[in-house]
Amino acid sequence: MASKAEAPATTGSNYEPVIGLEVHVQLLTQTKIFCGCSTRFGDPPNTNVCPVCLGLPGALPVLNRRAVEFAVLAAAALNCRINQTSIFARKNYFYPDLPKGYQISQYDKPLAEHGYIEIKAESGSKKIGITRVHLEEDAGKSLHDGLPDSHQWTSIDLNRSGVPLIEIVSEPDIASPDEAYEYLTRLKEIILYTGVSDCNMEEGSLRADANVSIRPRGQREFGTKTEVKNVNSFRYIRQALEYEIERHEQVLESGGRIEQETRLYNAAEGKTFGMRSKEQAHDYRYFPEPDLLPLAIDQTWREEIIATMPELPEARRARLVAQYGITEYDATTLTGTRALAEQFEAAAATAKNPKRVANLVQSELMGRLKAKGLEIEQSPISMKGVAMSADLVESGAISGKILKQLYDLAFERGEDFPVVYEKEKPQQITDTLAIERIIDEVIAGNPKQLEQYRGGKKTVMSYFVGQVMKASKGQANPGLVNELLVKKLEPGE
Ligand SMILES: [Zn+2]
Repeated sequence: MASKAEAPATTGSNYEPVIGLEVHVQLLTQTKIFCGCSTRFGDPPNTNVCPVCLGLPGALPVLNRRAVEFAVLAAAALNCRINQTSIFARKNYFYPDLPKGYQISQYDKPLAEHGYIEIKAESGSKKIGITRVHLEEDAGKSLHDGLPDSHQWTSIDLNRSGVPLIEIVSEPDIASPDEAYEYLTRLKEIILYTGVSDCNMEEGSLRADANVSIRPRGQREFGTKTEVKNVNSFRYIRQALEYEIERHEQVLESGGRIEQETRLYNAAEGKTFGMRSKEQAHDYRYFPEPDLLPLAIDQTWREEIIATMPELPEARRARLVAQYGITEYDATTLTGTRALAEQFEAAAATAKNPKRVANLVQSELMGRLKAKGLEIEQSPISMKGVAMSADLVESGAISGKILKQLYDLAFERGEDFPVVYEKEKPQQITDTLAIERIIDEVIAGNPKQLEQYRGGKKTVMSYFVGQVMKASKGQANPGLVNELLVKKLEPGE
């Protein structure tokens, strides 16, 4: 079980917040959970529908095997115990975009339970418990605006009706808005690594609702909670929670009572607003879905699914630190997505100095991306490009200053590093006489190093190479410099 929240609250007040999160993740199956309709996003409204997902009388659901496999993989990645038998249940409620009048979900026997996510909290590493992961179908979508007659009508698109979801419910172990943000970040990262969802928040593939209450420090019982729904970014969830916690405090401090209700966050105003009160705890009249058999996942099937699990971000971070000698901080950036981690490893494997690759990502790439508002996946400079630039600096072919200029050009033109380098690479001096002249000057200026070299300390060679490259402003051909230096340094030549 997760550790109980003892961490200091961000509010620094006499109250401590208690936060729980419910996250819905859309699974990346080709077809819906109980019928063969496509799950493709953005198709014309009401084109991916059939009697099953329209909820027509007599239509029977058939469970999508792939949805189960994805759900099991995600639950296992979240350290959950997979139940051998889970039961689908009808959750009854009326909503215009729910034609059946109920949603097929899971209730008292969910797919998986007792998991956790490890997050970084102020007090160090902390486990946030995951109560359950269950499978369910999505509802349709009410369109309140964007259509020519939206001022008059609400339209309904049932393409989303029956799309497979998992719901991931956390324990109330989250003690601050920052921890909520960290939990969601780690959760999304893990799900992305498993590949079961694209977690695209704009398209609604990942939706998070937050429950929050506060209680006087040291009190065991929870305070009355409010729920903040439909917030479309992690940053806004953090802001909404900060707002709610402060609001709860003000209400309690002034002798008021918190109403149990669902609230919406208005990001423009930075405030939450009451949407509907939950005067009676929601009574969905759950009962086992009579049209579906219990879902049985035997050991063999479970193991088959779990065998496909890729290395997860936490493990990968630890390995990158050990294998490439990079910092924990660098490793966290580089494992942000599975694709990036893979690109980095491919680049680091061929680069002369993997640590320099990591350093360049951190010092030269991230800042430029941030300035342009780009994600690392959208970087004009690929990991291969970073590796190439690292090698060029390593060999002395270009200076750090030139590297910065080339990176600037790459971002200006939206071109990868190798392309920019080919066009802009410093004019190389390949004139043997010119290089020899520089070498003579360098040797004359460093009698002590010459003596050391001739005394058998051959490692001084790299010092001379560096000096010559510097004197030529990085323009001498490194191959020639090496060749000529050896000749000049040997006594008697
Ligand atoms: Zn259908």
